[in-house]
Amino acid sequence: MIKINENYQKLQASYLFSNIAKRVNAFQQANPDKPLIKLGIGDVTRALPDACVKAFHLAVDEMAQDVTFRGYGPEQGYDFLREAIARHDFQARGARVEADEVFVSDGAKCDSGNFQEIFSTDIIVAIPDPVYPVYVDTNVMAGRSGAWNAEQGRYEGLVYLDGNRDNGFIPDLPDRPVDLIYLCFPNNPAGSTATREQLKLWVDYARANKSLILFDAAYEAFVQDENLPRSIYEVEGAREVAIEFRSFSKTAGFTGTRCAFTVVPKECMAYTEVGEPVSVHALWNRRHTTKFNSVSYPVQRAAEAVYSAEGQAQVKELVGYYLSNAKYIREKMEALGYDCIGGVNSPYIWIDSKCDSWEFFDRLLNEAAVVCTPGAGFGKCGEGYIRISAFNSFDKVVEAMERIGRIL
Ligand code: PLP
Repeated sequence: MIKINENYQKLQASYLFSNIAKRVNAFQQANPDKPLIKLGIGDVTRALPDACVKAFHLAVDEMAQDVTFRGYGPEQGYDFLREAIARHDFQARGARVEADEVFVSDGAKCDSGNFQEIFSTDIIVAIPDPVYPVYVDTNVMAGRSGAWNAEQGRYEGLVYLDGNRDNGFIPDLPDRPVDLIYLCFPNNPAGSTATREQLKLWVDYARANKSLILFDAAYEAFVQDENLPRSIYEVEGAREVAIEFRSFSKTAGFTGTRCAFTVVPKECMAYTEVGEPVSVHALWNRRHTTKFNSVSYPVQRAAEAVYSAEGQAQVKELVGYYLSNAKYIREKMEALGYDCIGGVNSPYIWIDSKCDSWEFFDRLLNEAAVVCTPGAGFGKCGEGYIRISAFNSFDKVVEAMERIGRIL
């Protein structure tokens, strides 16, 4: 008899975005003439930068000729991309990352979801609340949690790092030893950003406790304040205890093109039962080369073009466009009397809904035909908040805010 992985039975039935999709579909069926404005899911709306499109086309043409055709590439990614990433994203900012520490992949979702599998199932995992739901669900699937506690609204066995108004959605250090720590800055959903000093506390904690930090920097390109770090490797000591996930999805409009990468410094260690250190880089390399066969050559060439002078200017414009949407949304919501976090150095505006977050979601959907994301979907601490995303055209953002202004 084929048996299931029982851990899947613990998962809460409805993943956030499928629940939203259900409500949105029901609304559309009931109101076929009311055009919806979607400011919910964090998907980009603008075209790929021209430099990426050109490089993409050229690489497809190479694939069309026997002499320039490429088959399987190196599982870790082509050197041309790994080198461009290490040079531009890290070394240029004074952070030491070598090209062979960069593992190119088809998404930060897969990497941030998969990375936990190289660690023991009996480790203690600390996860911020609210946060991108992938970290919790993948650890539940792997058996690192107990059952869902409906009263608490949380899984047993996980250590939740609470974000709230008092700490500005930058969680405090845990009050007990933990082994694996997820951090996400700029934060999805709360739009909060951590300073170097705040990240240093985590790095020092991890060094003192032989823990490892999985730092999700999928939104680093939105950090405009030069005083804020864009990488955890801008913090001293981080190379010993931190893995960083990055993505071209939001930076360069690659959500449908798929390219991302994970940095695994050679200094990072995890430990055997008897406390002997094992290289995390070697473990991830083993896992990656066994289960992944690289990103397509044209996509890697398109990603490389992000780092050309033309690409850099276009990406800057793209990110700037979404950031001005974010500023507009935040200003309008504040003018309506709502407290906001984010929308600065982040494409997400996190809004105190002053009521149940699904109730506020339903109100925006049914009365204004605007889709946002209810904070409760990101964890218990997200209750009482909604997330509005700046990923849409400026015209749609203006119209959405007009509609919201009429009903609130
Ligand atoms: N990490 C965070 C925090 C995200 O919000 C998202 C997407 O919304 C991802 C990772 C996924 O990135 P990718 O498109 O590279 O899979």
